[in-house]
Amino acid sequence: MARIVPITLPTPYQIGDVNVYFVEDERPMLIDAGPPDEGARTILREKLKALGYEFRDLKGIVVTHFHPDHFGLAQVIAAEAGIPIHMHPLELYLQRTRSEKAQKVFCGWDLPATWDSRRIDPSRWIPSSYRPFGVTFTPVDDDEMISTGEMNFEIHFSPGHSLGHVVLREKGTGWLFSGDTLMQKVVPNPFIYHVEGERVPTLPIYLESLHKLRGLRVDKVFPAHGEPFEDLPAVVDAICEHFLQKTVDVYEILRDIGEGSLLQISQQLYPLHIDREAYMVMSKTLGCLDMLRQINVVHSAGDHYTLFSAKNSDPGNKGIQEQLKDLILPK
Ligand SMILES: [Zn+2]
Ligand SMILES: [Zn+2]
Repeated sequence: MARIVPITLPTPYQIGDVNVYFVEDERPMLIDAGPPDEGARTILREKLKALGYEFRDLKGIVVTHFHPDHFGLAQVIAAEAGIPIHMHPLELYLQRTRSEKAQKVFCGWDLPATWDSRRIDPSRWIPSSYRPFGVTFTPVDDDEMISTGEMNFEIHFSPGHSLGHVVLREKGTGWLFSGDTLMQKVVPNPFIYHVEGERVPTLPIYLESLHKLRGLRVDKVFPAHGEPFEDLPAVVDAICEHFLQKTVDVYEILRDIGEGSLLQISQQLYPLHIDREAYMVMSKTLGCLDMLRQINVVHSAGDHYTLFSAKNSDPGNKGIQEQLKDLILPK
């Protein structure tokens, strides 16, 4: 009988351990692959071995998104198994985006001194030894189904945390493998991304994904970080509430200071985190500003949204909260 075995792997990243999921079925499959380092590779190999499998027995590998804790080992495993990697094409695009292009977009952003430009260069995230020659990719998208035999995984496109993030729902059990889109104890961050030099507003896209996922029949959610949980709607609601509160906070900061740069607003929103986690904090702040721009209560000047100001004609905080609730909370 088919079953799913969670395998927890250590990562060198701030998020901590990552869960990858081994689907033991007629065509054994891996959902996510763990970080690109020897420790994780050894643990994954040994845990599979204990179940009676080698990497070369895998018939499929699906990567929810291109972040290194998920995609890191995928290429070496796929090469060893002689199979393609199933991933959304936007993830492959992001993984291969050249850093100079993205860095150019950040020129004039008044970035903190601790900003580390290497962090926005996905081509550096995975060392070349974990990118063997000849690995191929099979694009996956909404409404596709991957069958491993007894189990059938529907692909749901759920962008926001990354632009081509997918989650998998196993039809028979109603189990959802949510990657970094849904976690119980961590609010996923919609990071700043660019496509062809244009910034994509990731928080509005992420909220849309959450609203969509909330409508799925799901019995249990298996996230990439942390424990499985059952109440998907409650977790979606909590994440949406968090972003509603942060967006209101950003509006109030901006109303008090009149106008400010992304950095100045971010510093006030997360004074304790801005130095250590500049990219995360600025991603979240910019997301909130995108929401406020949607209801037309902030103005941004400059090509790169470097300066924001609250509009004078705002109808008062109450009205803004109601509008944001409509926009951010699930219906
Ligand atoms: Zn991620
Ligand atoms: Zn992750």
